[in-house]
Amino acid sequence: MSRVAIVGGGIGGLTAALLLSRQGQEVVIYERADRVGGRVAFEEEGPYRIDQGPTIVLLPEMLNGILEEGGLPPGSLELLRCDPLCRIHFRSGRVLTKVAGLEEQAAEIEREFPGEGSGFLRFMDDMAGLFPRGKASFLEQPFPRWREFFSPANLRLMSRLRAYRSLRSAVGSYFRSEELRDAFSLQSLYIGGAPFRTPGIYTMLPYAESAFGIWMLKGGYGQLPRILSRELLSRGVEIHTGTEVESLHVEDGRCTGIVAGGVRHSYDAVLYNGEFPLLEQLLPAELFAGAAPVKRNSVKGTLKRSRYQPSSGCVLIYAGTDRRWPEAETHQFFLPDSLNDNLRELFDRGRISQLPSYYVFNPAAVDDSAAPPGESVLYFLIPVPADPELDWDTLAGSLAERVLEDAEQRGFPGLKSSLVWKKLRTPADAHKEGLYGGGSFGIAPVLSQLGVFRPQPKPYPIKGLYAAGASVHPGGGVPIVMQGARMAVHELMKEMN
Ligand SMILES: Cc1cc2nc3c(=O)[nH]c(=O)nc-3n(C[C@H](O)[C@H](O)[C@H](O)COP(=O)(O)OP(=O)(O)OC[C@H]3O[C@@H](n4cnc5c(N)ncnc54)[C@H](O)[C@@H]3O)c2cc1C
Repeated sequence: MSRVAIVGGGIGGLTAALLLSRQGQEVVIYERADRVGGRVAFEEEGPYRIDQGPTIVLLPEMLNGILEEGGLPPGSLELLRCDPLCRIHFRSGRVLTKVAGLEEQAAEIEREFPGEGSGFLRFMDDMAGLFPRGKASFLEQPFPRWREFFSPANLRLMSRLRAYRSLRSAVGSYFRSEELRDAFSLQSLYIGGAPFRTPGIYTMLPYAESAFGIWMLKGGYGQLPRILSRELLSRGVEIHTGTEVESLHVEDGRCTGIVAGGVRHSYDAVLYNGEFPLLEQLLPAELFAGAAPVKRNSVKGTLKRSRYQPSSGCVLIYAGTDRRWPEAETHQFFLPDSLNDNLRELFDRGRISQLPSYYVFNPAAVDDSAAPPGESVLYFLIPVPADPELDWDTLAGSLAERVLEDAEQRGFPGLKSSLVWKKLRTPADAHKEGLYGGGSFGIAPVLSQLGVFRPQPKPYPIKGLYAAGASVHPGGGVPIVMQGARMAVHELMKEMN
C-alpha cells in the first residue's frame, strides 16, 4: 500500500482519491478552500441555490463509468435528460432547437434551415466512425513521448478529425449557413476556446452533445463533490480543508512529500490537482533551467519553465426570481449579429462587446425542486477576456445590465422586475481564487496546448509526482477531467508497483 497526498480537492483530486482508495491506497486530500469541489460549487442566498460553475453534463457514460470503477454503486448520480437538449437564439430571429434523435434533429434543422438537414446527418455519420477512435486515442491515453502522439496512426486520425483546421472551419464542411456553423462550433466556449482557434479535433464535442445528449444532475452539478466526499470519508480518506500546500519535497529525483502550514508530511507519491501552471511555484527552484547551479535533486536534466495561454474568462450573473418561465428550456444560448465577429473582438482584441453572446441556465425547466414553488433561479454566463486587471467593478455591472435587458426581450419577459436576488462573478474573482490568469477553464484549448503539448498526467521525470485537472491532458470539462484523473492514477499505480 502507498500513502498518497492529493493537493487540491477539485473534481480531478476527488476522482483520483476515489480510484486510489478503491485500490486500497491510503489517501489524504489537502484543500486550500473551506470546501472541496473547486469550480464545482453552489452559489446560495436565502431560499435560492444555483450552480456556480458547471451546469451541462456531457458524456454521462464516461462519468458514470469512472464513478463505478471507483466503487460507487450504479445510479449514484440522478441524471436528468434534457430534451430538447438546448435552444440557440440567433439575432436574425431564427431559433434552432437541438433535440434528441438524428432524424428528429435533421427535420428540425430542415424546418429552420431548408436544405441543411442532410449536412447534419453527414456530420453525425462521419463522426460516428471517428469518435470512438478519437476518444481512445486522445482522451484515454497519455502522451509521455512525442513518438506516441505523432505515430502514423495518430497522424492519420488527426487528419481525419481535421486537427489542422479550426473547429468552425471543420464544421463548415457540413453546413452552408453561418448560423448553423455557429450552432455546431460554439461548444468550444464550454472549455474557454474560440471556435475559430480551437482545433477541429474538438468536433468530438458537438458530436458528443448530439449523439449522447445533454444532461443535468438533479439538484445541480454542485452535488457531485458532496457525493464524492461523502464516499471518501466513509472509506477513511482524510480531507483537510482550509489547508494550503506550500511546497512539494523532491529528493533524489523523487517526490517524497508536501509542506502545509510550515510542517512537512512524508508520502510515497503526490498528485497535484491545482492549476497546472502554478505547480512550478511549489517545486524546488533548483530543478528548473536557469536556476543557480546547485545539486539538482538527481532529476534527469533540468525542467523547462513553460508559459501557458489561459482560456477565456467569464462574467456570471446568478439570479433568484419570483416567477418561472415554463416555456424556456434548461440550456439556452443567445447569439449576437455575428458570433464570429463578436468572438474575434474578445479573443483577438481582448475587448468586451457592447452586446455579447451569452448562455442561460434555467434548471427549474427540468428540475422542479431547483427553486421554491413558482420561483426560479437563473445563471447567465458571458464569455469575456480573462484579464483580471480590467476594472471589473465598473465593467461587470453595465455588462450584466445589457445582458439582462437583452434576455428580457428575447426569452425571459418580465425578467428585470422579477429579480429578487442577483450576484455577479468576474475574472478578478476567478483570479483571486487561484484560477490561472483569471481564465475559467484552465489553459486554453489551442493546438500548442493539445495532446503531447499539454501537461501530462506524469508531468516531469520526477518519480512519485502526478497531475490531474482542467489544464492537464486530456483537458477541461468535468467528465474529461475525471478521465485525466483516471490516467494519472494509472500512471501512479504503474510506477509505485
Ligand atoms: C463558469 C464555469 C462553467 C463551467 N461549465 C461547465 C459545464 O457546463 N460542464 C462541464 O463539464 N464543465 C464545466 N466547467 C469546467 C469544470 O468546472 C472544470 O473543468 C472542472 O471542475 C475542473 O476541475 P479540476 O480538477 O481542474 O479542479 P479545480 O476546480 O481547479 O479545483 C482545484 C482545487 O485545488 C485547490 N488547490 C489549488 N492549489 C492548492 C494548494 N496549493 N493547496 C491546496 N489546495 C489547492 C483549489 O482550491 C481548488 O479547490 C465550467 C467551469 C466554470 C468555471
